[in-house]
Order: sequence, then structure tokens, then C-alpha cells
Amino acid sequence: MELEGRVALVTGASRGMGRAIALKLGSMGARVAVNYVAVDPQNEADAREVVERLQEMGVDALMVEADVRDGEAVKRMIDEVVARWDGLHILVNNAGITRDTLLLRMSEQAWDDVLDINLRGTFLCSKHALKPMMRGGWGRIVSLSSIAGVIGNPGQTNYSASKGGINAFSKSLAREVGSRGITVNAVAPGYIRTQMTEVLPEDVRNRFVEMIALRRPGEPEEVADLVAFLASDRAAYITGQVIGIDGGM
Ligand code: NAD
Repeated sequence: MELEGRVALVTGASRGMGRAIALKLGSMGARVAVNYVAVDPQNEADAREVVERLQEMGVDALMVEADVRDGEAVKRMIDEVVARWDGLHILVNNAGITRDTLLLRMSEQAWDDVLDINLRGTFLCSKHALKPMMRGGWGRIVSLSSIAGVIGNPGQTNYSASKGGINAFSKSLAREVGSRGITVNAVAPGYIRTQMTEVLPEDVRNRFVEMIALRRPGEPEEVADLVAFLASDRAAYITGQVIGIDGGM
């Protein structure tokens, strides 16, 4: 229970890695706010299932709706978490999307949607989470980047740019807030088995596996373990890093 007394907010926690991270942080004793976006009724049902699962585990959990692109909504969400639990210590910027296509065919909308949710969302949530973290003199910001943001990937110029942006953002913010007891890191998964990658054609998924030293996709729980470590006191001297978790891709 090494996160006992900590308050965590995980964005995009209705499914996939966000769900696994929320459950892991809860299992370590944190109170967990499960963010979802109400664009689709399924998201709300999924988020409710995550909260119920946490509550069954004896974890104090809360469902909070917000589109991470919307500054007002993000501020409201963080105010709600702070009002409920009198603080916020851990922010996991997990919400993310892909709109894959080659650059020549990429619409402005596909560019903007990916940059807005992945990068602007990380900016807005981090900005609003910082005040309560500073007040508490302790904080952890962990953002989901990607191997694509480090080495690039054809068909993902928008996504790679957003994730490379998260890496640079994290390094700069780490320097701004280190003296306040707040660490800022990014984790860069390779190919993880979630609904985001399930929709890829089988031959693409097989090609990914061939590129991985361990010859298998990662599981959301494996990424959750790394995020939870970075969110703990054991990672107090790690900041401004982009940590790969890709099975040797
Ligand atoms: P996923 O599609 O299963 O989950 C993404 C979550 O983000 C969903 O719950 C979705 O509703 C939420 N979301 C989308 N737009 C949102 C918005 N505007 N506001 C709030 N929430 C929103 O994907 P996943 O595979 O679990 O990915 C989680 C994170 O990990 C993403 O940032 C993704 O880019 C990153 N990532 C995934 C992989 C992989 O192989 N799956 C690899 C590298 C990085």
C-alpha cells in the first residue's frame, strides 16, 4: 500500500492502459479519479465498470468526465477531485488517439485531432494539476508517450509529433518544477495489446511482433507497473526521462 494517502487522476481511464493504470494505483492504496470523455455512451459505461471494480477492491474512486482538449472542463475536473479529496498528487496523462495515414493524405482535421488530444490535453491537465501538487509539496506527472515519438513510424507523422512533443514537454516541465518536489516523466510503450492496436490489420500486428526481441505484444498491466513505480516514492530521483517499455522493439 505504498500509495496510501495519495490522490491520483488517470485520464482516458475507461479502457486499455488507462484502466490498468487506475486499477494498479488503486491496488497500491491511492484514491483514484477515473477520467472519461462523454463522446460515446460506451465510455461512460466502461468508466463506471472501472470505478465499481475499484470500489470492490476497497478503493475510494470517483468518475470524472472531461474532454482533455477543453481547458474549462479540465479545470472543473481537477477542482472536483481536489474538493473531494483535498489534494492531487499523481496525474497520469494517458488519454490518446491515433488517426493514421500517410502525410500526403493527411487532413488538417486528422492532424489537429491528434495534436489536440495527445499534446494539448497533456499540457492542460498538467497545468491545472500543478497548483494542488505545489500546495502539497509533492507530485508525480507521468505521461503516455510512444516509441513512435522517439524513432518515428510511417503513417503516424501526427501521432509521432504529438508523442515527441510530450517527451520534450516532460523534460522542460521537469526542470520547472523539480525544486517543488514534483517529478515529470514520460513512458514510451511499443506495441501493447489494447483496443487501440486491435484494430490494426493482422499483417501489421505480425510485423510489429517480428520487430520485438521478446516476440510478443506487451500487456496493459506491464505498462501499469512502470507507471505505478514512477508514481511512487521509490522513483523520487527519476525526472525528465522518457522510459521505453517495448519488449526490445
Ligand atoms: P485506447 O484507445 O484503448 O484508450 C485511450 C483512452 O483515451 C480511451 O479510454 C479514450 O476514451 C480516451 N480518450 C480519447 N480521447 C479523449 C479525450 N478527448 N478526453 C479524455 N479521454 C479521451 O488506447 P491505449 O492503447 O490504452 O492507449 C493509452 C495511451 O497509450 C495513449 O496515449 C496511446 O497513445 C499510448 N500508447 C499506446 C500504445 C499501444 O500499443 N496500445 C503504444 C504506445 C503508446
